[in-house]
Amino acid sequence: MNLRNMIMENPLLKDIQSEKEIIWINPDKTDFQAACKCAELTMKDVEDAEARLLRFAPFIMKCFPETNDRNGIIESVLTPIPKMQKLINEKYESGLTGRLLLKQDSHLAIAGSVKARGGIYEVLKHTEELALEHGLLTMEDNYEKLASEEARAFFKQYTIQVGSTGNLGMSIGIMSAAIGYDVVVHMSADAKQWKKDLLRSHGVTVVEYESDYSEAVKNGRRLSDGNPMSYFVDDENSRNLFLGYAVAAKRLVGQLEELQVKVDKEHPMFVYIPCGVGGAPGGISFGLKQVFQDAVHCFFVEPTQAPCMVVGMATGLNSEVSVQDIGLTGLTHADGLAVGRPSGFVGSIMKPHLSGEFTIRDAKLYDYMRDLLESEGIFLEPSACAAFQGPVKLMRSTETQAYLKKNNLTDCVESAVHIAWATGGSLVPLEVREEYKKIHLR
Ligand SMILES: *Cc1c(COP(=O)(O)O)cnc(C)c1O
Repeated sequence: MNLRNMIMENPLLKDIQSEKEIIWINPDKTDFQAACKCAELTMKDVEDAEARLLRFAPFIMKCFPETNDRNGIIESVLTPIPKMQKLINEKYESGLTGRLLLKQDSHLAIAGSVKARGGIYEVLKHTEELALEHGLLTMEDNYEKLASEEARAFFKQYTIQVGSTGNLGMSIGIMSAAIGYDVVVHMSADAKQWKKDLLRSHGVTVVEYESDYSEAVKNGRRLSDGNPMSYFVDDENSRNLFLGYAVAAKRLVGQLEELQVKVDKEHPMFVYIPCGVGGAPGGISFGLKQVFQDAVHCFFVEPTQAPCMVVGMATGLNSEVSVQDIGLTGLTHADGLAVGRPSGFVGSIMKPHLSGEFTIRDAKLYDYMRDLLESEGIFLEPSACAAFQGPVKLMRSTETQAYLKKNNLTDCVESAVHIAWATGGSLVPLEVREEYKKIHLR
């Protein structure tokens, strides 16, 4: 069936096309055991990634002393936000029961966004491969030795390249520069000036494009492929990025225990994550499913102008379709979410796992940003605030009500926990924050 017919026959796609906020419930979600049968990645892969990050911890601590208090593990806090919950229940009549928590990847060390998980992990994995192959390192060594002058001189021969709308470039750029690589970040037109400036201050080469993210990626990949000493971080297809994100899940277990939050059949967990190309929300959700299985319900949130993942998943075309194909611009204020085409593999991995998707208009990103600042005194970048569309809408929309009923959750939502996954913000300069506070869109 061609796309035009699909849109004609699918009211949801029509609404997406006319820039309406939608809620999509994934018809292909199955129970966890069934979903595992056809999985290309497993818990073993996540554990392998976790062990690698542990091996690198002494090195990270050495290069980035701000990670000392966590012994070189890059992890964020999980914060109860009862005042925000009260605010949304009053202001938007959300009727959200249970407990609302904020996962503050916005405040992750080094990169100030969720990209500090996947991006940094991928650079480290590549670094370990190079170092092992060239006899710089054995797996039993203390990886701190990679911070030596000899090691830096070795890595200087190599180049890392990546295409980015901003945050991925920052995580890859800062970490690669710290290791000693030549780094080139190919930035799309929508990338913020302060992100380019910050990267250049770390010695990163920033190439700017007039076009969107896909162009920046395409050109970056081409240039990298032409250089045998260059490695390209492929945000659209990378299993490494995905697994770096997935490690978040196991670390959440202890944090939930500390807050005395139970997660099981009677105490469901709902997670809401802003989605761009899909790697971050996909990886985190995949990890969460491995750990919490049927007790966790994962929702992505995308801007109404760039809902590439929901278009890919709802049509089944995945990366074969772009938001431009259905007449949307792909342009949004949501940094990091301005992606027109989803990852080539996240849609298929998430097909049996994902509960659904919300989309959000740009105007609301700023509203939720001010709401959180007012109620809890926490600043997030506007794109990260997309996460709140979930808690605001869950209890009061027909689609999600039907989902709760179908999954026998209606009676236990009283004891649910909701996690808004805050994906970025701590590096946003003060003057840019002041500007954001004044933005009122329609
Ligand atoms: C990158 C990013 C996301 C989404 O990650 P994807 O892997 O592109 O889906 C969400 N929020 C912020 C702030 C980001 O930078």
